[in-house]
Amino acid sequence: MSYETVRETDPAVADALEGERGRQNDTLAMIASENHVSEAVMEAQSSELTNKYAEGYPGERYYGGCEYADDVEELAIDRAKELWGADHVNVQPHSGSQANMGVYLGVLEPGDKILSLDLTHGGHLSHGHPANFAGQVYEVEQYKVDEETGYIDYEALHDHAEEFDPDIIVSGYSAYPREVDFERIQEAADATDAYHLADIAHITGLVAAGVHESPVGVADFVTGSTHKTIRAGRGGIIMCAEEYADDIDNAVFPGSQGGPLMHNVAGKAVGFGEALSPEFEEYAEQTVDNAIALGERLKEHGLSLVSGGTDNHLVLIDLRPSHPDTTGKDVEAALEEAGIVLNANTVPGETRSAFNPSGIRAGTPGLTTRGFGEEACREVADLIYEVVDAPHDDDVVATVSDRVDELTDEYTLYE
Ligand SMILES: *Cc1c(COP(=O)(O)O)cnc(C)c1O
Repeated sequence: MSYETVRETDPAVADALEGERGRQNDTLAMIASENHVSEAVMEAQSSELTNKYAEGYPGERYYGGCEYADDVEELAIDRAKELWGADHVNVQPHSGSQANMGVYLGVLEPGDKILSLDLTHGGHLSHGHPANFAGQVYEVEQYKVDEETGYIDYEALHDHAEEFDPDIIVSGYSAYPREVDFERIQEAADATDAYHLADIAHITGLVAAGVHESPVGVADFVTGSTHKTIRAGRGGIIMCAEEYADDIDNAVFPGSQGGPLMHNVAGKAVGFGEALSPEFEEYAEQTVDNAIALGERLKEHGLSLVSGGTDNHLVLIDLRPSHPDTTGKDVEAALEEAGIVLNANTVPGETRSAFNPSGIRAGTPGLTTRGFGEEACREVADLIYEVVDAPHDDDVVATVSDRVDELTDEYTLYE
């Protein structure tokens, strides 16, 4: 894509856009929730559909001139149904958080009870954190992972549910490296007559490709972001059985949103189309193999991983056992200096703070999109280790930075 026209009319914005493209090309994006979409997805997202009001749903809009808006929304819905096997799909949520809001608004009343995973144990703000609307409107209690093993403690979750009697149990996480047993959580929901919302924001692509167990057909509601492992551009999605279709659709529009971002719905349609290809299945498998390779090599260097490893696209490093005086923020800053962009993250049993936590989270979706295989990911693990071990050593950071330059030149991204 060219920014020629913006360059002519608005050089300041063009500088920022080109700067961002250069940044993505020249650094390794290892933030586990990020990815790089195709040029086709970006073209669709920058289309004239950004001009179109299409309040309502295909075939029943509140505005005229919606025939092409209908086309892209129907394509996005049909492809999503094929990818995830859901009966009903709403592709209008502006993001994953809006998708969760749609479910809460669709089936809960203010004051109803949510049981979800603690944010510092891998949950998400939209699962009922006090700073989020969900934490203010609903009564929230949270379950935890077992601090010894790093795995969800399903027994404790079940007991907690029986005690708290929630209206909805939320599964699906932001920083959980292991396979989620959605059926086990459904048992707890069944036992307490609660809805089950499976938020697969991070693992949408892994579920679509069949490399992670699917909650579709198990949980009542499945939500996700469309810009993470599924690589379909920024946005959200809700899936459910036909019986909840009206509740969900009404909660998204008019319940919590106005006109859908039809250009982003077009991006979803294109990205979902790409994800239906056999190459996407290989991509998802490689993403997991790469995370496993990354994690194993980090462990060989003596670093400690929460849960001891990974089943998905991310690893969570607990710095405390190997580097007790180094914080996640120290490492995040030094790695960014070296061209490896990831984030500091809390770890189960956090002893520092959410702002300056003891862990770092690293994901492989972006690297895998660039063509990285396991050998290259092992080398990235070596580079991460060197910086973790000497975050304030400028020579080490400079050497790693040179190697990152070579890797980004070898594994090219955008023209
Ligand atoms: C990323 C994420 C979301 C949604 O985030 P948005 O930025 O609103 O798309 C929701 N739930 C979980 C578990 C996530 O990781």
